[in-house]
Amino acid sequence: MPSPSTLRVALPLPLPRLFDYLPPPGCTPAATPVGCRVQVPFGPRTLCGVVVEHGQGEPGVALKTVQAVLDAAPLVQGELLASLRWLAGYLHAPLGEVLAAALPAALRRGEPLPDSTRHGWVLNEAGRTALAAMRTGKPKTLAVLLQTVHDEDGLDALQPGWRTPLRSLRERGLVERVKVGSEPPFSGKGDADPTFSPNPEQQVAIDAIRAADGYTPFLLDGVTGSGKTEVYLQAIADCLARGKQALVLVPEIGLTPQALARFRARLGVPVHALHSGLNDNERAATWLAAARGQARVVVGTRSAVFVPLPEAGLLVVDEEHDGSYKQFDGIRYHARDFALVRARALGVPVVLGSATPALETLHNAGTGKFTHLRLRQRAGNAMPPQVRVHDVRKLRLHAGLSDDALGAIRSALDAGGQVLVFKNRRGYAPVLLCHDCGWSAHCPRCSTPDKPTAMTVHSHGKRLQCHHCGHRKPAPPACPDCASLGLQPQGNGTERIEAELQSRFGGEVPVIRIDRASSGVRDALQKHFDTLGHRPGILVGTQMLAKGHDLPNLTLVVVVGIDEGLFSADFRSGEKLAQLLVQVAGRAGRADKPGRVLLQTHHPEHPLLLTLVQGGYHAFADAELALREAAGFPPFAHLALLRAEARQTEPPQQFLQLAKTCLRDADVELHGPLPAPMPRRAGYVRVQLVVSARDRRTLHAALAAATPALYAAPEARRVRWSLDVDPLDLY
Ligand code: ADP
Ligand code: ZN
Ligand code: ZN
Repeated sequence: MPSPSTLRVALPLPLPRLFDYLPPPGCTPAATPVGCRVQVPFGPRTLCGVVVEHGQGEPGVALKTVQAVLDAAPLVQGELLASLRWLAGYLHAPLGEVLAAALPAALRRGEPLPDSTRHGWVLNEAGRTALAAMRTGKPKTLAVLLQTVHDEDGLDALQPGWRTPLRSLRERGLVERVKVGSEPPFSGKGDADPTFSPNPEQQVAIDAIRAADGYTPFLLDGVTGSGKTEVYLQAIADCLARGKQALVLVPEIGLTPQALARFRARLGVPVHALHSGLNDNERAATWLAAARGQARVVVGTRSAVFVPLPEAGLLVVDEEHDGSYKQFDGIRYHARDFALVRARALGVPVVLGSATPALETLHNAGTGKFTHLRLRQRAGNAMPPQVRVHDVRKLRLHAGLSDDALGAIRSALDAGGQVLVFKNRRGYAPVLLCHDCGWSAHCPRCSTPDKPTAMTVHSHGKRLQCHHCGHRKPAPPACPDCASLGLQPQGNGTERIEAELQSRFGGEVPVIRIDRASSGVRDALQKHFDTLGHRPGILVGTQMLAKGHDLPNLTLVVVVGIDEGLFSADFRSGEKLAQLLVQVAGRAGRADKPGRVLLQTHHPEHPLLLTLVQGGYHAFADAELALREAAGFPPFAHLALLRAEARQTEPPQQFLQLAKTCLRDADVELHGPLPAPMPRRAGYVRVQLVVSARDRRTLHAALAAATPALYAAPEARRVRWSLDVDPLDLY
C-alpha cells in the first residue's frame, strides 16, 4: 500500500461527496489527523471543512492544496465522528453539512479554539470601596455577591439576568474578570438534598437505571409532577459518582433559570447550559469543555445532542415527545432519535422522560425495545387535576370565554390562586371579515385561488400579519371590495382574550399575556413570571405556557378553544393535540393546592376528547396507535418527504417527477408529486412527494439509491429542495 498522499475533506456544501486536497507544503497527511479542521480554496471562495479520511488521489488529477490546518489535534473524533457519519447516511445528507450543523458556529467558521477555562467576577479595589455608598438596585445586589469570586454559572443561578447590572459595574470600573480554578471535584452530593426519599415507583426507576450495563434505553413515563426530574437527578448523581459525564436534553422552552438552578443546587458540580441565549463564544467554550472532559453535566436544547462526550455515562431526554427536538430546516435531525444512536455507540443508558410519550416511543416500549418505567402518581401528596369538558354550544361567549369559565376564574382568584387561560392562537383575531360583502383579508404571498390564507389581526385590529410567512401590513380602514366600514375581527386570539380579561379583572390582579409576540426571548419570558410571582393573577397564552416555569399557585386552567385542532388533516395532529391538552392540564394543582381544568369545546362528543378525559393519555395512545396501524402510518410505516419549491409552478413538479422516476423500481409507495397542504408560502409554489415503506431498511435503500441523482440533476438547480426523513408532519 502506498502511504496516503491526500486529505479527504468534508465541506459544508450541498454535494454528497468528499473533496481531495494536498496537505500544506512540507507536511505529510499524517500530520493532519482525521477530525482536524482545515481551510481550503473552493472556486473563488475559502471554506472551512473537516478532514475525515486520508486518501490516495487519482493519477493525473491536479489537486489544490490546503491553505491552513486549523487544529493541532482532532476536534471531532471517535464516537462523535462515527455517529455523525451514521447521521449523514440516515438523513441522506452531505457529511460536510452534518458536521457543520454539529459544530458550534464559531468553530464551524474556522475560528481558533476558545479558552474553555471558567471565568468568574469579583469586585476590585475600587469596587470594594464604592460598595457602601451604592444605591440599592440590581447593580448593588450583584456587587454584594461579588465581594467574593462567583463563576458565571453560579451567577446565573443566584441572580438571573446578572449580565445587565454587571455591565454597569464594569463601565464604572468596579469589577474584574478572573479565572476560576478547574472544576471542583465531585463532592458526592449537592448542597441541597431533598427532604423526602423517593417513593416506591421512583425507587424502581432509579434502581433500574443504576443497574443498566451498557446501552439501555428507558422510557420514564410519568404524569407531570410525578417526580421524573427527581429520578434524573439521582441517576445523574450516580453517573457522576462513577466518574462519568451526563448529558441532559430539554425542550426549547423547558430550559428555564428555575430548572437550571434546581440541577445546579442538587448535583454538587457545575452544570453547563447550552442554549440559544448564549453567544457564539460561550457555546463554543461549553462544547470544548465537554470535549476535554471538563464539563461533567451539560444541560441543553436540541443542538446540545452534538456535544462530544469522551467520558459519557448517561443521556437524558426530558419531554421526549416535544416537537422542538426536530430541526425543521437544513439538516433535519431529531435530537431524541440521535441521542438514542449516540447512547448505543457510547454504550450507555439513555432515559427518555415524558408525561405524554410520543406514539413511536410508546410503541417501542410496547415491543420491548425500551424498558418501560412508570410513575403513575404525583409525587408527595399532590392530587391529579379534575378535568371538566365544558360544552359551550349555544352559550354566550365573551372573547371566547363562557360565563361559567369567567365565574370559575373569579372563584380561583378569590381563593388566592393563579389562572392559566390557554388559546393556541396568537394575535387579536384569526380573520378580518367585511360584514357587508364577505371579503376577508388574505396573505398576498401565501394564498392560492383554491386555498386562501387568512391574515391574523393584531394590535386590536390595527395591523394584519400572516403567521405562515410573516408578511405584515396595516389593516385597511374600509373594505377594499365594497368600501364598507363594517370590517370585523372574527374569532379570538390571545390578544383579544387578554383584553377581555384585562377589562374584567385587570383592576385587581395582573393579567399577563405570554406568546411568541410578547416573549420573543428567554429573558422576557422569565420577567413575565417574575412579575407575577406567587400573587393571584391570570396568564393568557399559547403552547409556550404548556411547560417550563413551575407555577405552584396555579389552581385553574381554562382551555378556550381547541376545536381547530380536532379536525386537522395531518396524521400527527391528534397526537399533538392530546399531548398539548394533557401538558397544559398538568400544570394545574401542586402539592397543597388541588387543580381544576375547564375544557371549552363545541365538540364535546369528539372521540379524542372522550377517550382522553375518560381513559387518560394512554387510552388515547392505544386507540391512536390502532388507527395508525390500520392506515399504514408511523410507527407502522417509515416515511420520507421530498419537498421542492420555486417561484414558478413547473420546476418543483419537474424535480419531483424526476425523483419519482428515480424511486420507481424500489419497493416503496409514492404519493405525489402533489401540492403541499400549504400550496404557496411567501410567494413560493410548494410541491411534495411522500415516500413510504413498511420497513426502514427498504426506505433507506431506496433513498440511498436515488439521492445521488437528485443532487446532480439540472432540475435540482431550479428549485429549493429538501429531503425530510421521519418528517414530524406532512406540511
Ligand atoms: P416531574 O419532573 O415529573 O414533573 P418533579 O421531579 O419536578 O416532577 O417533582 C414534582 C415535585 O414533587 C417537585 O417539587 C419535587 O421536589 C417533588 N417530589 C419529587 N419526588 C418526591 C417524593 N418522593 N416525595 C415528595 N415530593 C417529591
Ligand atoms: Zn366589503
Ligand atoms: Zn403569508
